[in-house]
Amino acid sequence: MLSYRHAFHAGNHADVLKHLVLMLCIEHMNSKDKPYTLVDTHAGAGFYALDAEQAKRTGEYVEGIGRLWGRKDLPPPLVAYVALVRALNGSATLRRYPGSPRIAASLIRDTAQVRDTLRLCELHSTDFALLRRQFKDAGRRISVEQADGFEVLKAALPPPSRRGLVLIDPSYEIKSDYMKVVVAVKDALKRFATGTYLVWHPMLPTIEANQLPEKLKKAGASHWLHATLSVRAPATKGHGMHGSGMFVINPPWTLAAALEECLPFLAAALALDERAGWSVDQFEQGTKKD
Ligand code: SAM
Repeated sequence: MLSYRHAFHAGNHADVLKHLVLMLCIEHMNSKDKPYTLVDTHAGAGFYALDAEQAKRTGEYVEGIGRLWGRKDLPPPLVAYVALVRALNGSATLRRYPGSPRIAASLIRDTAQVRDTLRLCELHSTDFALLRRQFKDAGRRISVEQADGFEVLKAALPPPSRRGLVLIDPSYEIKSDYMKVVVAVKDALKRFATGTYLVWHPMLPTIEANQLPEKLKKAGASHWLHATLSVRAPATKGHGMHGSGMFVINPPWTLAAALEECLPFLAAALALDERAGWSVDQFEQGTKKD
């Protein structure tokens, strides 16, 4: 039984990091004329009203996208990210926040020359219904499935176009998600070694959360980038998330520089205490870059 609803967390610091990286990776995919398939294994509801009960109850977006909204000194990649959210929000006031499906749908291409495809998976019946409603007129290049994203991934790879981007963004409310992510990534690399894989992970004071990045580093990829953004000191009590990370396999060559430009800014802008910080770590077979 799934109880996690992303509506409580939409637009928080973790979404800022995740959606910035997603946008940068899609933009890079768009720099070539060949079509690609984007699979979002854990899509969520797709769009979130920030004045709805769930978002208001936690107010997490206020300390995430809310802190970037009025800034005039954003580094260029963050200007593009906030502009994207602003366009999808549809108003000068921050009222709605787009989830990964809406961000992806707005960036993939549908021209006479190139038609990219987007495959969205969501298991929760309520969020699936919301997602399906949003994309009901989207046509065949965007599909919405009420399905286990880990299972769909097996069938989806390799994509017919042999170009692919995969976002794996579980809530980790079930501990087995940590293990499933590693198994899914290993299997995906066997099926489609050249795909770009984006795995979001929480920074939490638990063994599973701490071990996940190390396990992903050993999953068999010859090139990866690991970026983290923390907004406060790790919790000593309870299970509060103090930050999150994006583990990117086969990252665009432009990603590290863009994140090194944005993450110091984000760590300062979204800080909740003086322990906020960031990191970008990269590995490419034959070289080690920090
Ligand atoms: N990717 C979304 C975004 O960035 O806007 C947020 C996704 S949220 C963190 C995780 C979602 O995965 C939840 O809506 C949850 O219902 C869904 N979920 C959980 N297990 C799943 C599974 N095995 N397959 C597909 N969806 C799942």
